Amino acid sequence: MRFSQASTPQTPRMPVTSKGGRAILTTLLRGGATSRVELAARLGLSQPAVTRSTRTLIEAGYLAETEAVPVPGGRGRPTSSLTVAPDRLSFLGVKVTTEEVIGAAVDLTGQIRAAERTALTATTPEQVVGAIASLTSELGHTPGLGPVTALGVGVTGDVDSITGTARRAPLMGWAGVPLGRLVAEASGLATVVDNDVRALTRAEWWYGAGRGVGSFALVTVGAGVGCGLFLNGSIYEGAHGVTGELGHLPLDERALSCACGASGCVETAASTAAILRDLRAIDGLSAITLAEATELAAAGNQPVLAVFDRVGTVLGRALACVANLVGPDRIILSGEGIALFDLYRERLRQTMTAHAFGAALCEIVPLPLPFEQWARAAAVTAMETFVTGGKKKGQADAAS
Ligand SMILES: [Zn+2]
Repeated sequence: MRFSQASTPQTPRMPVTSKGGRAILTTLLRGGATSRVELAARLGLSQPAVTRSTRTLIEAGYLAETEAVPVPGGRGRPTSSLTVAPDRLSFLGVKVTTEEVIGAAVDLTGQIRAAERTALTATTPEQVVGAIASLTSELGHTPGLGPVTALGVGVTGDVDSITGTARRAPLMGWAGVPLGRLVAEASGLATVVDNDVRALTRAEWWYGAGRGVGSFALVTVGAGVGCGLFLNGSIYEGAHGVTGELGHLPLDERALSCACGASGCVETAASTAAILRDLRAIDGLSAITLAEATELAAAGNQPVLAVFDRVGTVLGRALACVANLVGPDRIILSGEGIALFDLYRERLRQTMTAHAFGAALCEIVPLPLPFEQWARAAAVTAMETFVTGGKKKGQADAAS
């Protein structure tokens, strides 16, 4: 991950640049209040090193000290914990869809302080970049917000987060778009671009359903089908920056053509557009909406139920692949398509159970996350890049 533009003179600078200092701040950003003793133990740092870095961070206004509380049992000195000062800095995040751009302003504790949406009339890079620039300019003026430090952009597809290039985004109709550079020029902000599902996985690791779990997969169902992987303490990015492209596993025997150029992809059965296409192919239902289909399914309409059975079957196969390949503790299921989950939950579970090998069968946690949470996740990506100093190709995330 790297910013697409060198910081402007107004951009705040990290007060600590040592590896240990950065690790301390990252741990506090992710983990909430922590004592110095615990920080030293968790990060393998000496007490003096922790004292030195935290003093610098307190003086720079990044950290605050909680009141010392007596140790339970009355033995030893009372200990105080360190917490992050929420308003010291802020980060902006944007999630790009084919229909709109959703933005959020986020404080140092990951709280959303303001959120906005802008509709798109086309998905050309020019229109998207223009919408991002006006949205971020508006969000940057949120009253009470700390100095805006950087911007994160989450977009579907094959994204090179080192160069900020959207290499291939079939849903957007993009190939080789230097999105990071374009957005940085238009917004004036240091900008980092990442795959949207990978960013969401990072935010769930830091603050959400992935906290304290050794490994998890975040599968998103909606306009596309994606999958973020958190394995052994870091987000797995793969040798080429492409991982978890679950939507393009060939698991539907109808072998219909996919936007990616291949056929039989999971997305050709389970994306929102595919579900609508299959529903509208039913006699007499050529203009049906998803809300109407939900009602017909509840009333026991067999052709409609068959469409959702297929969704459950194909997604169940896909989740069994994830379970069998990487064996995560849990699979979090999200995305806007999760609104239809009840219609295929049973079939998905049956299919997954049939194909998961032995102990690989893991729990599935449905988790609706509105697009504002995806925008926050992009801001968290910018926060991580700022605090860790970014990373070069092949470098792993710091373990938590
Ligand atoms: Zn495909």
